[in-house]
Amino acid sequence: MTRSVVLLGATGSVGTSAMAAIEAGDFRLVGVAANRASDKLVAIAEQHRPEMTVVCDPADGKALGARLGPLGLRSAAGPDALAALAAVAADRVVLAVPGFAALRPALAAVDAGRVVCLANKECLVAAGSIVLARARAGGATILPVDSEHNAIFQAYDPAALPAIRRIVLTASGGPFRTWSRDAMERARPSDALKHPNWSMGAKITIDSATLMNKGLEVIEASHLFPVGPERIGVVVHPQSIIHGMVEYADGSVVAQLSNPSMVTPIAHTLYYPERGSAPVRPLDLVELGALTFEAPDEERFPALRLARQAMAAGGAAPNVLNAANEVAVAAFLAERIGFLDIARVVEETLSAAASLNLRSETLDDVEAADAEARRLAALRCGERVTS
Ligand code: MG
Repeated sequence: MTRSVVLLGATGSVGTSAMAAIEAGDFRLVGVAANRASDKLVAIAEQHRPEMTVVCDPADGKALGARLGPLGLRSAAGPDALAALAAVAADRVVLAVPGFAALRPALAAVDAGRVVCLANKECLVAAGSIVLARARAGGATILPVDSEHNAIFQAYDPAALPAIRRIVLTASGGPFRTWSRDAMERARPSDALKHPNWSMGAKITIDSATLMNKGLEVIEASHLFPVGPERIGVVVHPQSIIHGMVEYADGSVVAQLSNPSMVTPIAHTLYYPERGSAPVRPLDLVELGALTFEAPDEERFPALRLARQAMAAGGAAPNVLNAANEVAVAAFLAERIGFLDIARVVEETLSAAASLNLRSETLDDVEAADAEARRLAALRCGERVTS
């Protein structure tokens, strides 16, 4: 039976993988959204003729309408239109919008009781308790698309929770895995954007280089899998073939393996609980020959330690961590701060915010804390410009 799909964030890296999975299977795209009215978004709308096409940027609404209107296609613009699209009746809502901006659409989707294929981690990091409580209240299902979490989801037996010793997320180690701190101090955005295995957007590629991506993923995992934060491990695995593992008390370790392509975890969530085929290269272990593993180095990559500290502190701290990181990564990409300054800005912002007693109970709290953390982080990025 054809499944209807709404895809938010269709033109980004994850969105492109989602389109590949959708086009290869028995799916009908009923709604689509992207940040801007790009040629790519218009081409998707022309080909799939969804009932609604949305751009997040309100300034692009007219341009989109002018291109889709003559084709008899409906369109809308702005954050409210995006949230409304996330709630429309469909068999799957794929949330591939990057960053904190995904939070409101995520809440709209769970409130409406949708099956959400969640590729965005920031909404769980910033407001995981709120998102999960509203998902329970709304009768929604969250299927993790983030490759490590999707792998753990595939290996995780909730009925065996007392016998789960730990869950393990793998990390490629990013482009600076073997670099010294001195070399990282001088790293430019072009160095950090060369990811060895995954082809991804700029923000997540920088997060992979700092290991903040893994830190955010540990917090994300703490919401998705209630094993307790001390039972969430990270192992560096440079080949990115094993994406996640669940270790049981009987000594069994159940892992999910696949080539590093987001098409596989997206297809898994689109077909779940069934299995379908995805347009990916089969995994050839003989060709690979060897898989290697090492411990993460929290001295050279302090972001992982900061994320664990924020998770332990709880409350608004993970939200502050995420907001400060988004600001610092943007400042690094604009060459306003250095690579190692990203973790420094995050650490200083966390300390500054700790004394403010920021709240995290409601969506308003979360948005206020996010705004305050962004202000504090921007101040710190600015200080570095003048020093
Ligand atoms: Mg991931």
